[in-house]
Amino acid sequence: MTAPVEAHLADLVGFPTVSDRPVDGILSWLAERFEGLGFRIERLDSPSPGKANLVCTAGPPGTDGVLLSGHMDVVPVDGQPWTSDPFKLTRVGQRLVGRGACDMKAFLAATLAAAAQLPIRELRKELMLVFTHDEEVGCLGSAQLVRRFLAEGRPVPSATLIGEPTSFQIFRMHPGHVVVQIVCRGRAAHSSKPDLGDNAIRLALRVVERLEAIAERWRTDIRFPELLERPFVVMNIARIAGGGAINIVPDRCVIDLGFRPLPGMAVAALFDEIRADVEALGEVTASLGRVTPALLTPDGTELQGLLRAFAVDPSARAAAYATDGGNLQELGTNTLIFGPGSIDVAHRADEYVPVEELFRCVDVVGAVVWGRCA
Ligand SMILES: [Zn+2]
Repeated sequence: MTAPVEAHLADLVGFPTVSDRPVDGILSWLAERFEGLGFRIERLDSPSPGKANLVCTAGPPGTDGVLLSGHMDVVPVDGQPWTSDPFKLTRVGQRLVGRGACDMKAFLAATLAAAAQLPIRELRKELMLVFTHDEEVGCLGSAQLVRRFLAEGRPVPSATLIGEPTSFQIFRMHPGHVVVQIVCRGRAAHSSKPDLGDNAIRLALRVVERLEAIAERWRTDIRFPELLERPFVVMNIARIAGGGAINIVPDRCVIDLGFRPLPGMAVAALFDEIRADVEALGEVTASLGRVTPALLTPDGTELQGLLRAFAVDPSARAAAYATDGGNLQELGTNTLIFGPGSIDVAHRADEYVPVEELFRCVDVVGAVVWGRCA
């Protein structure tokens, strides 16, 4: 017989919630089940059609229980060498294979299975579940939820658990991610008379040199060496596009880059550093794109104590990737990242969660809710 948590995971993987598609289906499925267990349900629609966050609450509102959060979207499967249908959960030995199996529908399935075993209607502190959309494309859903909660002055529990795949390692910190676009403008001319134009690509090369100098400078500002493998702001020049026809001097070249600010750093100041240096070169404009905040939770929180019994290592470390936790932190809650499956198999073909870890996650959620809300 299939255990409920495994059946839930199979149902959840069956929704192909790649970030460019709606989340209506999976959202209604979750809402219906949590409502059946006694939760209050709120669908928070986003401006993009078919996109919404789901909030399920139980226990007295405004009391300090716990917030459990997970994203509903998954990354694409196109071009990946899957050996089975990615949107049909397939058991291979002790592995459950499917897109989102570990990142992070396992946590959603475990939360549902655990809730079915708990006295949800009798909780003495608030249990809040937040299921987000568009996490994989820059934590857009959690950013919207946070804006809304801040506008409403709505309190949330002071402890948050996000069940991203960490192989049951506790993470209390991660860098953020910031997107910057730089546009270099030149003047078009016939390629036979290049002296009559200004070549935007040549200008872009000088911009790249400046960016490398900034990245070099940032590498010397060491922070959190005990937590991070690269304890400085990392920059990646990700994309460059310029020019058109072979016989025209290009009049435009666009550079897209990303950098990863560390907790406590002012994103605006880092961006201003870039802007001042590159705009000094002339016809160059830098603009700030999407910002995903860094996360830092103090060591030794009560939630960390509850997770320790299930963790492979009692200490809390740093994740290399960003999560919804950076946004949620702005609501004044302390987030830990801890969940089943390995980030090393997430986003790849034949992504899987070990069956044992899925089952153990049900116990984790049960212990956390019991510890914070009973
Ligand atoms: Zn994830």
